[in-house]
Amino acid sequence: MPDGSKAGLSGDIFAPDFKDTPYWWEAAPRTVAVPEAPPKSVDVAIVGSGFTGLNAAIDLARAGRKVVVLDANDLGHGASTRNAGYVGQTLKHSFRDLQNSRGDEYAVAVYREMKGAFDAVAERVEKEQIDCGFKICGRLILTKSQRQYEDLADEFERRNKHLGTQFHMVSKSELRNEIGSDLYCGGAVIPSLAAIHPGLYHKGLLDRARSAGVTLIGGTPVTGIQRDGDGFDVATTQGTTRAKDVLIATNGYTGNLWPWLQRRLIPFDAYMIATEPLDPALMAKLLPTDRTYLDHVHDIISLRRSPDGTRILFLWRTGTKPTTARKKGAQLHADAAGIVPEIAKLKITHSWTGRCAGTFNLWPHVVQHEGIHFAGGYCFAGIPMGTYLGRKAAARILGTQEAKTIFADRSFPTVPGHTGSNWFMPYVMKWYGLADRWQSR
Ligand SMILES: Cc1cc2nc3c(=O)[nH]c(=O)nc-3n(C[C@H](O)[C@H](O)[C@H](O)COP(=O)(O)OP(=O)(O)OC[C@H]3O[C@@H](n4cnc5c(N)ncnc54)[C@H](O)[C@@H]3O)c2cc1C
Repeated sequence: MPDGSKAGLSGDIFAPDFKDTPYWWEAAPRTVAVPEAPPKSVDVAIVGSGFTGLNAAIDLARAGRKVVVLDANDLGHGASTRNAGYVGQTLKHSFRDLQNSRGDEYAVAVYREMKGAFDAVAERVEKEQIDCGFKICGRLILTKSQRQYEDLADEFERRNKHLGTQFHMVSKSELRNEIGSDLYCGGAVIPSLAAIHPGLYHKGLLDRARSAGVTLIGGTPVTGIQRDGDGFDVATTQGTTRAKDVLIATNGYTGNLWPWLQRRLIPFDAYMIATEPLDPALMAKLLPTDRTYLDHVHDIISLRRSPDGTRILFLWRTGTKPTTARKKGAQLHADAAGIVPEIAKLKITHSWTGRCAGTFNLWPHVVQHEGIHFAGGYCFAGIPMGTYLGRKAAARILGTQEAKTIFADRSFPTVPGHTGSNWFMPYVMKWYGLADRWQSR
């Protein structure tokens, strides 16, 4: 893979209308938030207006609760409108590892819930009739070595045997029917996975939350949460609201509002670019099957068509140090061209970043601690998990049967000395890069 750090800095790879904001904001522009005082009292105060907060808010409001969603920035400022739009069933622990460590039954239970999380998005989109390009397009997971190829085949054979997950392996000779790249030695297609326009999904959720009666307030950071009797005083820059329950849905944007949580999350940045529109014949040559494409590595590399089929969207260099959108865009452009060489001739129209949150045990969590609810730590799978665990958090507040989930049962660890800084992420990603190179031999 070429190092793109010096490539393209002359500026000629950037389209004249280049933007450093997400491509998704073209179809779903941000509304500039006006700070506003929250209601004097509510049943539930939700901090964060991404997929987690909004999915919870809709269910709570429809169950008759008075709900306010508060965001420090414009509504939907976070990762929910900045991601790649892959809707998968991905967990950082493979089915095989769970079988080996906890046995078949546990592995099946966990992966059934991963399917449940995927279904939660499909169901939300369908029932609410959200027009957001949700499409079951299948995913191609690419491998660079025979060892990785066999490893991937083994993982999906196990999932097929125990869960009925459909898949087929693609050999090197068949790969050009799937992607215009000679870098890989094969891959696996999982036909049941999907893609979405995250900006429009988020917009649909905002609209449904509004019509369900949720009070939505942007530009108003929550600055403190104080337990008082059987409720909480939730302080914002515009005044305090009294809430029976509080849900924190701040994921990668979690600050020092709740130090207990901050010590358990690892924020990290992820980066994406969008190219200018391609000639349809060229697109048909480069990404002929219109799937989502993923490199089978620790360090996620992803490539897809935009939902309208005109552009290529590319993600890599997660967890690396932030720099300007142009510098990072130039690196990603060179990286993408290292995979699909024709991308070198395409200009970039958008280069942007967003924040995710990992956890020390690489599991997502939905918890209640000191009476406060939290859902997050999705380790890059927040479209399904944010939808699913946002709804689980709402069910836990409502005390309904749907509240049960395996993701509430695990301990939520921290490590001594961690206070929320992510200084070590570039080293972790370097280590992942080395591990990937070793496995690619
Ligand atoms: C570039 C990128 C690509 C990704 N690709 C994928 C993908 O393809 N598939 C997938 O499943 N996942 C993907 N993810 C992850 C996914 O986007 C996130 O996990 C998910 O959006 C998290 O949603 P959320 O609602 O929990 O948090 P967010 O959407 O991040 O929202 C958190 C909100 O909290 C607000 N906030 C923080 N502190 C305060 C405060 N004190 N007061 C008020 N508000 C506050 C922030 O302003 C922010 O709006 C990607 C992420 C990135 C960045």
